[in-house]
Amino acid sequence: MLLVITTLLPAGPGPAGGATEWRWPLRPAPQVLRPYDPPAHPWEAGHRGADLAARPGQAVYAAGPGRVGYARDLAGRGVVTVIHGRLRTTYLPVRATVRPGRVVKAGTRIGVVEGVLGHCGQVACLHWGLRHGLSYLDPLILVGRAPVRLLPWWDDDPTVGMTPP
Ligand SMILES: [Zn+2]
Repeated sequence: MLLVITTLLPAGPGPAGGATEWRWPLRPAPQVLRPYDPPAHPWEAGHRGADLAARPGQAVYAAGPGRVGYARDLAGRGVVTVIHGRLRTTYLPVRATVRPGRVVKAGTRIGVVEGVLGHCGQVACLHWGLRHGLSYLDPLILVGRAPVRLLPWWDDDPTVGMTPP
């Protein structure tokens, strides 16, 4: 079964109870230093997110409403993950100002960019990732800056979706 990603990611703010609102994790809208560049095969190297120009100490905001999944140090870099239903956004390097389990809105401050260089050479950047289950997606689809693609739909419960609605 295929599902168009747009049905998962309604663009822009909607009426109350309607479409999910998504925002850039940095303000103002940042320059994209390096785009999403997925490998042809899962085991190959690639770039599983987008790198956004950022200053060390700059505030980082949740891209959409959800709940903080984890907020901790991973190999010397702070990583924050926000769970939005089946989607998950990841932000690094970030010194978290939220704890796991915290409910956030689009635009809730979750931390600040750490002054860790290397991922973008000699300039600081924020690596922003998006996952749907085990699949990586281009996070720029959230802010309407990447082409929409089809992706396979599955569920943790294999019986879900097998029954016609
Ligand atoms: Zn990156």
